[in-house]
Amino acid sequence: MSLVAPKHVGSDATSQPSSAVIRNNLTLLNQTIADICRQCGRNPEDIRIVAVTKTHSEETIMEAFEAGIRDFGENKVQELVPKMAKLPDDIVWHMVGTTQTNKIKDLVGRVDWIHSISKVKYLKELEKRAARVDRIIRVLIQVNISGEDQKSGCEPEVISEILAYSAGLKQVTVHGLMGMASLTADRDEIRHQFRMLRQLRDDHRKFETDNIRLDELSMGMSGDYDIAIEEGATMIRLGTSLFGSRDYGV
Ligand SMILES: *Cc1c(COP(=O)(O)O)cnc(C)c1O
Repeated sequence: MSLVAPKHVGSDATSQPSSAVIRNNLTLLNQTIADICRQCGRNPEDIRIVAVTKTHSEETIMEAFEAGIRDFGENKVQELVPKMAKLPDDIVWHMVGTTQTNKIKDLVGRVDWIHSISKVKYLKELEKRAARVDRIIRVLIQVNISGEDQKSGCEPEVISEILAYSAGLKQVTVHGLMGMASLTADRDEIRHQFRMLRQLRDDHRKFETDNIRLDELSMGMSGDYDIAIEEGATMIRLGTSLFGSRDYGV
């Protein structure tokens, strides 16, 4: 069974997936997630789909919203900010891409989750900016599990330093770890990387405090979310399997 939507071939030049395609993909995904959970003894309610909508229009996001999705993610601040401003208040917004210090101020007024915290300097800025708008931001620490240096995320040795710093923050709560597996067809290697992230999470439980609870593991994308669920993912970040392939291949 293919989970990837057929490329939409509508007459519109933007080639956005139709409401029917999104609903069908979501139904298939929920069935597949339920099957995987049954096989590995997990509860499907413990897995949150974050719909990654980069390159997709606000109309497409609204189709997914009407299909029942409430968690949406983007990987670029300049794309996320205008979408957050226009779309419904009850969307839970996730910044899943690499952050830059000078962009954090644009996010804090509305974003709910930032998955990509990999340095203390981002937390420092987040604390300052979130205080000004009187908001609490939920974050995940992004860890480099692929071993490829072009991938973002901190090295595993740095997690404890970031957590120790986080313990003193008032505007930030830390909920777990995020990781991206290598782009490889080697599924054993992908599993190994996800397992490592879970192990790192378990190893750092000792740092938990009032504002640090490491319950979440954001791992798994359209090509590997099945492995991620088996290895303990609580958030899977899905673009292609919901919306079809992105025309501009990001
Ligand atoms: C694009 C993106 C995804 C979703 O990718 P798909 O393979 O289309 O599901 C997930 N996480 C991040 C950080 C992304 O940038």
